[in-house]
Amino acid sequence: MQKYDYLIVGSGLFGCVFAHEATKAGKKCLVIDKRNHVGGNVYCENVDGINVHKYGAHIFHTNDKVIWDYVNQFAEFNNYVNSPVSISKGKLYNLPFNMNTFYQLWGTKTPDEAKKIIKNQIKEHGFENPKNLEEQALSLIGKDVYETLIKEYTEKQWGKKATELPAFIIKRLPVRYTFNNNYFNDKYQGIPIGGYNKIIDGLLKGIETKTNIDFFENKEELSKLASKIVYTGKIDEFYNYKFGNLEYRSLRFENTRLEKENHQGNAVVNYNDGNIPYTRIIEHKHFEFGKQKHTVITKEFPEQWTKEKEAYYPINNDENQNKYQQYKALSVQENNIIFGGRLAEYKYYDMHQIIASALQKAKKELS
Ligand code: FAD
Repeated sequence: MQKYDYLIVGSGLFGCVFAHEATKAGKKCLVIDKRNHVGGNVYCENVDGINVHKYGAHIFHTNDKVIWDYVNQFAEFNNYVNSPVSISKGKLYNLPFNMNTFYQLWGTKTPDEAKKIIKNQIKEHGFENPKNLEEQALSLIGKDVYETLIKEYTEKQWGKKATELPAFIIKRLPVRYTFNNNYFNDKYQGIPIGGYNKIIDGLLKGIETKTNIDFFENKEELSKLASKIVYTGKIDEFYNYKFGNLEYRSLRFENTRLEKENHQGNAVVNYNDGNIPYTRIIEHKHFEFGKQKHTVITKEFPEQWTKEKEAYYPINNDENQNKYQQYKALSVQENNIIFGGRLAEYKYYDMHQIIASALQKAKKELS
């Protein structure tokens, strides 16, 4: 018997927003997740008062007032502003590339001085038709910024030489000729006070949820429970990999608790050098201006993805895009299944974008 209107596979932001909207519209939902917790990749683990971003550092930012108001229904946000720093060959630089970075690189104090150096370097080292990421970066920012802050970091991140990576990975390089270390340009930014779990709990209030349930281990029985399915898992898995695997880049997180108040003085410190295997260290308490006597740090190691590992970043080359299009063609023919979220759409989405996408799909479905 169909007990529910919607079976929602995956309790990440997409699944939770859809479930919330459907419930508000009077529908009955069951949300399942194969992990032992709800929240998907925004889930935080509380370590004696510090919210540890278990699946990578998450900073909420948006220009969209509607999305900002939407998340603020569930949690108040603090005024955290993301201002990462990067360490390269023992020296520390501000990000994103701005007047502070240029001062640290060249001692320049005015925009004109910095612009002149960048312009000359682009002229000397740039390419008219960049064929790979290295050529693209040299053409956009010049040699010094590229070699000090981009090259080795990007090679670690993707596990490939910059000359073997496609140019389109770097479309634009944000350069600011002001002394402004705010990483994002968006109007609204912050971290939910109490962590992202507060938003997830608010979205799922009054909705039945079951964790430790993999849809594919009991697909037939679970499918019979609801009139429709909202599927937010991997699209290739849904179709039993019939056109082959979609590829991802994975990450490994190494958490350490330290019995001291402050380890690195900033939430995000990037490590550019190729001989250091991790790309960054996150010190979670700084997202929330924590005053605890202990701290928790996470080293982030990029890794080759295999089916057993968490799928983090889609590898957007032609081969994967062609495969995805084949899966998508099947998915649009389904009558009772809605596909949504980063894994079902094989796409990198920021949180505000995934919320907008879920709201839009819910509106279309429920109206
Ligand atoms: P997910 O959160 O991945 O949820 C999918 C859920 O489906 C998972 O819980 C999974 O367990 C479940 N599932 C999958 N298959 C099955 C199955 N067969 N049966 C049952 N359950 C299943 N965004 C920002 O805006 N700011 C940031 O700073 C930021 N940082 C990020 C850092 C990293 C390292 C990464 C990878 C992403 C970051 N993002 C950031 C993006 C953000 O994580 C996503 O936008 C958001 O989590 C996507 O939500 P989702 O619901 O699509 O997917």
